[in-house]
Amino acid sequence: MATEVFKFGGSSVGSLERIQHVAELIKEKKREIDNLVVVVSAMQGKTDELLNMAKFFTEIPDERETDLLLSSGERISSSLLAIALDSIGCRAVSMTGRQVGMQTDDAHTRARIRSIKTDKIRKNLQEGKVAVVAGFQGIDENGDVTTLGRGGSDTSAVALAAALRADRCIIYTDVAGVYTADPRIVKKASIIKNISYDEMMELASLGAKVLQIRSVEMAERYNVIIVVKSTFEPTLPGTIITKEGKMENRAVSGVTGDKNQAKITILEVPDKLGIAAAIFKRLSEKKIIVDMIVQNVSDKGMTDISFTVPADEIIAAKQVIEPVCNELNVKAIKTDKDVAKVSVVGVGMRNHYGVASDMFEVLSQEGINIAVITTSEIKISCLIEERYFELALRALHNKFMGG
Ligand code: ADP
Ligand code: ASP
Ligand code: MG
Repeated sequence: MATEVFKFGGSSVGSLERIQHVAELIKEKKREIDNLVVVVSAMQGKTDELLNMAKFFTEIPDERETDLLLSSGERISSSLLAIALDSIGCRAVSMTGRQVGMQTDDAHTRARIRSIKTDKIRKNLQEGKVAVVAGFQGIDENGDVTTLGRGGSDTSAVALAAALRADRCIIYTDVAGVYTADPRIVKKASIIKNISYDEMMELASLGAKVLQIRSVEMAERYNVIIVVKSTFEPTLPGTIITKEGKMENRAVSGVTGDKNQAKITILEVPDKLGIAAAIFKRLSEKKIIVDMIVQNVSDKGMTDISFTVPADEIIAAKQVIEPVCNELNVKAIKTDKDVAKVSVVGVGMRNHYGVASDMFEVLSQEGINIAVITTSEIKISCLIEERYFELALRALHNKFMGG
């Protein structure tokens, strides 16, 4: 018996007409698939709209309350889609995170899935219904609603595919697959037909928001085949993500970037043992993800530490480190939101040399200064001024992908 999980993103269900289109696509596919689970995101813009409503009252709204608020976006789209399906003769039932048994930890706004109790969803599938699941949400041990972080419906879909041992998980979105760069910025970007989990994980974690990184991690752990496809041109093959991928013999597979970065610089920190640990421990206790880090040692026994955090966590990050910085008597804490990270990714880098120097040369030819650099075996990232973001991506794509 074929079992598949489909996921439709915010723009795919962005209007009532689009929900109708998605309903018709599902009805047609249901003819060949015995067990069909459909995960939906909130209608495009809804999650931001809700978040901004909360921010009317306070810059940092209570996370438990925020989760309940945000989860309503996916409830709207899932129930509307189930109504649309029923109206065209395709039996469907909408289910919230709670109803689908999506059990998470209690890290509000960024919860992790612990387990899924699949009995209810299986019962609906056995009755021949399409299960339409509100993505992005679960419940914790206390029965409180949690959400899985922005873009989290991808992870809901892959988790359900793993729990139901689905044949594959198709992520329907507004582009025709995973490209060599964001096709909205780099017009010459081309579709990657096959990609490995590892490379996709790097692309996703470096800013290719076509998939939430956790969804790829989970797919790798449970061996879920992901296909990324266009909702609007569903006959195109899209991108297949598996263990092996099918690598071409080139150093770089994709170019990507992230504008959602902010830099914090702590000036004149005493250069003593354990100082960095003291600062970064505070951030990790608050579950704030620190990405790039540099430390410049000066000759006066002082050092400047710069690091990046997600832009929307800059206020929280500054608040968290302020007490320890005051104790250390640092000169100042500076924040800068106008930064962006650009990266080149490819497993082929393991066997090619010169990628880093080529990258720095391209950026310097464009007059773009590099503030921070980080590397791994299969990626190089540079932090630059945000205003050069698009220019940098196009220039890097031109250099490494030849167009
Ligand atoms: P959805 O609402 O379907 O979840 P997202 O907006 O989260 O869609 O992700 C799709 C978007 O990801 C595309 O519209 C595209 O602009 C962007 N994107 C960034 N990098 C890439 C890439 N390398 N390949 C494809 N899309 C990308
Ligand atoms: N609606 C949520 C968001 O906008 C989750 C998702 O779309 O996957 O981030
Ligand atoms: Mg998304």
